[in-house]
Amino acid sequence: MSTFSTPAILLRRSSYGDYDLIVTLLTLNKGKLTVIAKNAKKSRKRFPGLLELFSVLHIECRTPRARGMAVLQDATLENPFSGIRGNIMKTSYASYWAELVNLWLEEGKEQTRIYHLLRYCLDSLDSGIIGNEELSIIFQLRFLSFSGLSPNFSECNKCHTKMDEIKGNHLFFELAKGGILCKGCSSSSLSSLNLTKGIVKQLLWIQENDLKTAGRLKFNQASLREGLKFLEKFIVFHIGKEPKSLKFLRNLCSQMP
Ligand SMILES: [Zn+2]
Repeated sequence: MSTFSTPAILLRRSSYGDYDLIVTLLTLNKGKLTVIAKNAKKSRKRFPGLLELFSVLHIECRTPRARGMAVLQDATLENPFSGIRGNIMKTSYASYWAELVNLWLEEGKEQTRIYHLLRYCLDSLDSGIIGNEELSIIFQLRFLSFSGLSPNFSECNKCHTKMDEIKGNHLFFELAKGGILCKGCSSSSLSSLNLTKGIVKQLLWIQENDLKTAGRLKFNQASLREGLKFLEKFIVFHIGKEPKSLKFLRNLCSQMP
């Protein structure tokens, strides 16, 4: 039997029998990892208040000699994220990002960049130094790029005219091919979305700059809405279903003044 330890962010938890919990984590060293937390359900003293959604932990696990799930031996909390947990809107954004990571990532494949991205976005959401919507735009764009699905905003996907040289303020976006189209090329595309040049420029700017610089970009309300709507549609298209937490988030936002 061998043990290992790693920083980890909790993505999902579910009951296993009367006593145990199964938790899925995004670990720094081993990518997405599902482990069993024995007696975590029965005894509150076993992992007190630790195994909560998107908690940043330091975990210690035991790998069984035969095949099977690793067993969670010990966990310590690095950040309780009270700024997120005390706010339903922030909790909803964090839950959406965690669900996205859980849905998309393969088990056991190292994903250091996505770990650092999720960690950075959770820290910034907790402290409030960057707005919730701006952070969700940054998270989704980076997440797409680390997953090899970065949208092409720099030129028409068909005729390769540079975005800046495309005339007019309206662009089109082809979900299936993942890139913008000029008006002429969009007429032969069966399904494309409308996007303004303004939001395309802002999203391209985020793609081209580092996280800290990207966090300083200011959006107006209309472009925030347009950017989020577009990214969420693009992600749902590629996942093939709407994440539950996204549905909840959108319902919540529609009830806000
Ligand atoms: Zn074109």
